[in-house]
Amino acid sequence: MKNMAKPVVAVVGRPNVGKSTIFNRIAGERISIVEDTPGVTRDRIYAHGEWIGKQFDLIDTGGIEISDQPFVTQIRQQAEIAIDEADVIVFLVDIKSGLTDADEQVAQILYRSSKPVVLAVNKVDNMELRSEVYDFYALGFGDPYPISGVHGIGVGDLLDAVVAEFPDDAENVEDNSIRFSLIGRPNVGKSSLVNAILGEHRVIVSNVAGTTRDAIDTKFTTDDGTEFSMVDTAGMKKQGKIYENTERYAMLRAMRAIDNSDIVLVVLNAEEGIREFDKRIAGYAHEAGRGVIIVVNKWDAVENKDTKTMQAFEQIIRDEFQYLSYAPIVFVSAKTKQRLIKLPPLIKQVYEHHTKRIQSATLNDVLMDALAANPAPSSNGKRLRVYYGTQVSVQPPTFVIFVNDPDMMHFSYERYLENQIRNAFDFTGTPIHLIKRRRK
Ligand code: GDP
Ligand code: GDP
Repeated sequence: MKNMAKPVVAVVGRPNVGKSTIFNRIAGERISIVEDTPGVTRDRIYAHGEWIGKQFDLIDTGGIEISDQPFVTQIRQQAEIAIDEADVIVFLVDIKSGLTDADEQVAQILYRSSKPVVLAVNKVDNMELRSEVYDFYALGFGDPYPISGVHGIGVGDLLDAVVAEFPDDAENVEDNSIRFSLIGRPNVGKSSLVNAILGEHRVIVSNVAGTTRDAIDTKFTTDDGTEFSMVDTAGMKKQGKIYENTERYAMLRAMRAIDNSDIVLVVLNAEEGIREFDKRIAGYAHEAGRGVIIVVNKWDAVENKDTKTMQAFEQIIRDEFQYLSYAPIVFVSAKTKQRLIKLPPLIKQVYEHHTKRIQSATLNDVLMDALAANPAPSSNGKRLRVYYGTQVSVQPPTFVIFVNDPDMMHFSYERYLENQIRNAFDFTGTPIHLIKRRRK
């Protein structure tokens, strides 16, 4: 419920106008979260931004290469992706090259959409160039915003204009459902799972006009009255569209769905084993601090199963996704519906762990026992002292541990404390974060 969809801003324009320069400037530091993730895409095509307290997701469509397509087709398809994905489109042109045919081509596509378009003229590095900005009125998108991505000039005014076009926040409130998504490569059986799960439960038809995202989520309730939102259900059904065949677009869709979910179901295909894409999405979900359940689909298709088959598969998963040791694994079949009934209660349970709060007194009992059983090692005559801990937030559960010197708490000791916390309290399915602080 915390991870509601944010407005999406897409930057479009022909190559070399400065899309990635602008993208990096708007994304600022926040992008490093994606970059530090092991195995996750280093492509800077998707990031989080914030302006005057409003958060949004940012897409650089220029980073989505559609292979084997002529130049004109590529920029046209990128503009179409922007229309599909975005709440607001930033159409970028370049004062140095002036108005070009390729700009006109992009404009032609954007005219057909009802999405708001903000026109920005880049590389206006100095005042003398400003008068030339007016040439771009001819594109028909109103006042062009003169900016310089390299020097950071005018970007604030541009963002003011972008934020002004965001859908109302009011439409996003009052949702207590558990938001989850099914993420995986094409053909692992996501659509089949969606249909099978929805077939068993009462689907609430909701036509809430909100951001682009809300429109394609599907809500249902289970018999105990728990409300779930399945994120990106319609997006998943866009079979055969370009994103299915375009690795970076598929990754982008996956990252967006993960960001908009509380719990992520990483769907694997039992017939095919684990692939690179699976690792990237699992890594992203972990880094994003989401609850994670690993779902092995098409279990019916595995032949000659015996008691060891499941164990062996589980071992492979544990080896490949070592950082996801907390994630439960379920073997299902969308075809035969085997074990599908277990999914909603499991999602609910993981959500409870993801939102769980531990009293400080209870937490400190556990920490003190952990310290007594295995005192912190000393180095250079100095000893790490752990004073106390307290939980500061949920989704994921985050604990601040006060110590005499944060640098003295090594990874292995941190891991030990995390394990002791996990042993004392059930946090199955959710990452937990420990933050070391020097006691004042
Ligand atoms: P993209 O292909 O649209 O993503 O464009 P890039 O961001 O890669 O930029 C293309 C070139 O334009 C690079 O050499 C940038 O350094 C340059 N560039 C980007 N923004 C500006 C700007 O504000 N002023 C000037 N003079 N050059 C810029
Ligand atoms: P998506 O691309 O991930 O949405 O995958 P689909 O749901 O479209 O499924 C891809 C193919 O796998 C289809 O031919 C499905 O019939 C098949 N499929 C999906 N789930 C199962 C399953 O549990 N068992 C078997 N044997 N086939 C499945």
